[in-house]
Parts: sequence; C-alpha cells; structure tokens
Amino acid sequence: MNTLFLHCRPGFEGEVCAEMADIAAQLEVPGYPKSKPGSACAEFVCSEAEGAERLMRQTRFNRLIFPRQWARGAFVSLPESDRISVLLEALADYPVCGSLWLEVLDTNEGKELSTFCKKFEAPLRKALLKAGKLVEDAKKPRLLLTFKSGREVFAGIAEADNLAMWPMGIARLKFPREAPSRSTLKLEEAWHHFIPREQWDQRLAPGMTAVDLGAAPGGWTWQLVNREIRVTAVDNGPMAESLMYSGFVVHQRADGFTFRPRHPVHWMVCDIVEKPARTAAMMEAWLGEGLCREAVVNLKLPMKQRYAEVRRLLDRVEAGLAERGMKVSIGCKQLYHDREEVTCHLRRLGK
Ligand code: SAM
Repeated sequence: MNTLFLHCRPGFEGEVCAEMADIAAQLEVPGYPKSKPGSACAEFVCSEAEGAERLMRQTRFNRLIFPRQWARGAFVSLPESDRISVLLEALADYPVCGSLWLEVLDTNEGKELSTFCKKFEAPLRKALLKAGKLVEDAKKPRLLLTFKSGREVFAGIAEADNLAMWPMGIARLKFPREAPSRSTLKLEEAWHHFIPREQWDQRLAPGMTAVDLGAAPGGWTWQLVNREIRVTAVDNGPMAESLMYSGFVVHQRADGFTFRPRHPVHWMVCDIVEKPARTAAMMEAWLGEGLCREAVVNLKLPMKQRYAEVRRLLDRVEAGLAERGMKVSIGCKQLYHDREEVTCHLRRLGK
C-alpha cells in the first residue's frame, strides 16, 4: 500500500511527478515519482510503509493542480480467467470499503477497456459484498480499481471525502445547446470544482454583477446569464446576438488588461489567451484593488517547467495579496475541459 497512483491528462505526467515530489518534500515523506510520457498516469512510490497514507491524509485532493484522481495501493496481475478470486485474495489486507469505482486511464487503450469494466463491475461488486470487503457506507474509504489492461489493475483506496468528485476525475457535463461556445463547460466545471454545490445559490445568486474579460462569443457569459447575473462582457470581438437579447449583458469593446469597472463587482472571469505572468498580475490587481469578490481565471501554461512556473506565479500572487493585507483563498486546477491551461479561482475572505 505504499504507492500513490495518480490519473492525469495525457501529456501531463511530468507535471504530476513534479507536483507530488514537491508536496512529498514539504511533508517529509520519502519516496520518488515515476511515469511514462503519454500514459495518463503517474506513481509516487513511498519508501516507508505508511508514506502514501500520510501523503493523502495531509493533502486535500482538491488543492492538487494536475492530478485528476488518486488512490494508494498496489498493482495486481490478473489471470486470463477467474480474475475475481485473484482480486479478492489481493484485497485481503485492504480495509472494508464503502463504495467501489472501476476506472480506466484517459488513453485510447483505456477507452477500449471501459466496455470490459462495465461488464466486470456487477459480478465483482457481488463478490466483494459477499466477501464482506464492501458495505454500503459513505464514510468508509472508496475502493478504486484502475485497469491498465485486462491483466493489470491498480487496486487502491482513497478516503471518500478526499478524492475526485467524478470517476477518473472526468467531469461529465452536458453541453447546453443555447450556449455560444464549447468553452462554456470550462466555467461550469470550475464552479463545480471550486464551489460546494450547497453554496451556489448564495455565491452565484441572481442579481449579482460580473465582468467577463475576453468574453466573445459568450460561452462564459452564458453561464453567468443563466444564473441571472448581470454581465459586462469585455472583448473587441462580437458577442452572440442571442445573449445580447437577454438584457443581462453590456458589451464593452475594450482591452481586458486595462478595463476597470466603475463599481466593484461580485465576479470577474477571464479567458484571454495571454502570457501567464501577465494574466496572474491582472488577477492579483483585481482582488488586490477590491474590484471583485471572486474570480475564475484561465491561465495558459508555459512551454517548459509547467508545474514550477504555475507554482511560482501562484506564490507570487499570494505574497502580493498578503502584502496588501488581503485574505484571499487561491485554488488552481487543470480541469477536464482545460487543455494547455489551468483554471485559477480566487475568493476574498472576510469583508
Ligand atoms: N470565454 C469565451 C467563450 O466562452 O466564448 C471564449 C474566449 S476566447 C478563448 C478568447 C477571447 O479573448 C477572444 O474572443 C479574443 O477576442 C479575446 N481577447 C484577446 N485579447 C484580449 C484583450 N487584450 N482584451 C479583451 N479581449 C481579448
């Protein structure tokens, strides 16, 4: 149980390794990361028996940037037939779990394996229930079985309140037909990730005000308008007409980096493709000058040292806001709908 197994977007294995090595060093958990490029997963192998458990206990999964899912455990080799008996034997030392997820990696092989997983799940669940390894209990750990092939599975566990909210960390959101662009799902996913569902009515309430920087054609503005939030959409490009008819949107043809609202707003959102350092400085200014209470900002990733550079920028924003005496919570995640980018969330705390 001393390996931490992590899913990620294919191509970001190195970032997961860098991030986990950084966190493990801070927590003084000895071990090393490993991954294969394009595999959509990485491991952090702890050299102490309880290392992976300590890493997970002392880290909130939601605070991680690049991992999409995690679990601690070990690989199990499976035979051609009677996989269930072999799995039950391998799980003998695992705690009784409260739920079960069968997962695959976000690769072409993974997609092919998902049909196998769907067929395998019912008989496996039945066998686990019968063996007393699985009970219906939301408080007990979740058993996460990631199939790398029909012959190899990572059998892991994670605390039910400290893992991805969707299987494989993939947000399955329905594209709203009326939204003017597919980008709309990025903002919706960000809200799911950064705002607990029970707080949506209070923090994304009708009548609130927002500025959308780099708004055209309006996918993000659509999400805000859908919650009856009044939006100033800043972009030199055209907004979708349907949105303009809603009566909730004012279009300003202006530069998003110099635009300032006349009155502070509840929300600032920004999806401009720009150098990450410039975008980070802009989000610091908005929060620092009290121009908004919360922000969702897309940060394009640099070409190299992507984890180190994002970390450096976030630390700089945090330090800059602290110098101004501001208390701000800062989150950052590579969402499922993000590509070569990550999404930041900032929220001013207190008055
Ligand atoms: N979020 C939008 C949506 O959901 O439809 C998509 C935004 S698109 C990725 C980026 C937009 O930023 C483009 O419409 C572009 O015109 C705008 N843009 C680029 N630089 C800008 C700047 N300096 N100020 C304002 N808008 C800018």
